[in-house]
Amino acid sequence: MTDSSSLVIRNGSSPAVVHTDVLLVGGGIMSATLGALVKNLEPSWSISLFERLAEPAKESSDPWNNAGTGHSALCELNYTPQRPDGTIDVSKAIKVNQQFQLSRQFWSHGVTQGFLGDPRTFINAVPHVSFARGEADAAYLKARHEALVDNPLFEGIQYIDDRDDIARRLPLMSAGRSDDEKLALNWSEGGTDVDFGSLTRQLLDHLGQSGAELHYNHEVRNLKQNSDSTWTVLVKDTTTGKKTRVNARFVFVGAGGGALHLLQKSGIPEIRGFGGFPVSGQFLKTTNPDLAKGHHAKVYGKPPVGAPPMSVPHLDTRVVNGQLSLMFGPYAGFSPRFLKAGNLTDLPRSIRPNNLFSMLGVGMNSMPLTVYLIKELLKSRSQRVESLLEFAPSIDGDDFELITAGQRVQTIRRNGASGTLEFGTCTVSHSDGTIAGLLGASPGASTAVAAMVDVLESCFPDRLAAWRPRLVDMMPSYGTDLMQDTTLLSDLRRWSDKTLRLTEERELS
Ligand SMILES: Cc1cc2nc3c(=O)[nH]c(=O)nc-3n(C[C@H](O)[C@H](O)[C@H](O)COP(=O)(O)OP(=O)(O)OC[C@H]3O[C@@H](n4cnc5c(N)ncnc54)[C@H](O)[C@@H]3O)c2cc1C
Repeated sequence: MTDSSSLVIRNGSSPAVVHTDVLLVGGGIMSATLGALVKNLEPSWSISLFERLAEPAKESSDPWNNAGTGHSALCELNYTPQRPDGTIDVSKAIKVNQQFQLSRQFWSHGVTQGFLGDPRTFINAVPHVSFARGEADAAYLKARHEALVDNPLFEGIQYIDDRDDIARRLPLMSAGRSDDEKLALNWSEGGTDVDFGSLTRQLLDHLGQSGAELHYNHEVRNLKQNSDSTWTVLVKDTTTGKKTRVNARFVFVGAGGGALHLLQKSGIPEIRGFGGFPVSGQFLKTTNPDLAKGHHAKVYGKPPVGAPPMSVPHLDTRVVNGQLSLMFGPYAGFSPRFLKAGNLTDLPRSIRPNNLFSMLGVGMNSMPLTVYLIKELLKSRSQRVESLLEFAPSIDGDDFELITAGQRVQTIRRNGASGTLEFGTCTVSHSDGTIAGLLGASPGASTAVAAMVDVLESCFPDRLAAWRPRLVDMMPSYGTDLMQDTTLLSDLRRWSDKTLRLTEERELS
């Protein structure tokens, strides 16, 4: 990297950047987070961002395109599977929780430094709750509680099966429910609802004010590596049709569902064998104040048979623009688009000779998922409302509207002669460290900071020693296993609770 600032040719009101140190593709939470980290570590590096839509955070990072759960494995049962011997595997839960601690710290740093505004505009305290019906599932929650309760990351988690206590905590879910049914909860007071759209916009505002060039209505069409290892990126202004070639020393493909195509076009060997399987989603949403005020929690149930882990039904308190609402879902579905504003040819265009067998292998081995998606697709509105009534039997479905969420492109990875379908997020970077991208959807935005730190570690190994003090300044637990340093964990938790104002009573409309 040079320490030069970007050379910008101004052409009327449309700047044609011909060189940049860092080029970010996409204006979602991932690019915004990476941009903010880089700006902090190397203030003199030039940064240019290209987003195909007219505004940032209009795909998966938009608050109504995702569920806004600050995923820290407090309530999502897919992170705590039961082993055949009945014990609970908590390894994934520990990993996700530690990743979320980094996000909390980075956001707290942002508030302290003033590049993030009032935390109430992007994060709110909402208890995270796992919900079980019937003796067998209640026994699983009891075992899950026992496996987590002594772990400092899950401090304060409760197992509750007393019906009066449940009714007090979850009045909307308890009204109209038979007393005979066995119910149980794992309750964590320290959960959060996060507006990733607001967070993205604030991070990008900060980037813009710090000198980064932010280009909306600009689509990255192609990219090619030059003999000096830099990249030539072809960008199209979608309003004028004008094309620009941008020379970049480092490219981050934060294009969400569009990342697979662009990484394939880059020709880097690391993307060979990867494919994508798009899953669409819908939620039921209400802003009815009586309903919204009757439920203050994110309550996750158990996934139906064959359901992908991210399709676990949940009834969520949402706080967007200071307004309370409830969201239930997701109802999974199928669309070949890789982006909500994508193209019907996205899936077929992603099939290459190098990923054909991975994709065919997944197709043949994913019958329960296919059956599940078909069943979900065929559901009528009243059947969707029925699923909601299992959570809250007294609700009137007419109070809810059906909204379409963002697309999730699940990662297909080569596995021998076949392929496996993965439900997490993964970063793919070229061995020379000049390009990286992010694939997959879950736990997604909540772990954006850990994912982008991963990109920095993979692509800039020779800078890490120099960056370390700044990284620790931004994320005090960087490089530390918080389970081994419980004093640091509780100090940081107290600090971020206070800075993010998560322990305050809040007045919401
Ligand atoms: C239904 C659903 C529920 C979810 N729930 C949660 C949750 O509760 N908690 C959580 O943490 N995460 C959740 N996620 C995941 C989370 O939303 C994503 O992981 C995260 O928003 C991805 O951010 P991103 O920046 O990679 O992608 P995006 O936000 O999709 O941004 C990518 C951007 O790139 C742009 N782009 C694409 N191609 C190009 C191109 N060629 N040129 C220029 N720009 C381009 C797009 O227009 C888009 O703006 C959920 C996702 C979905 C779909």
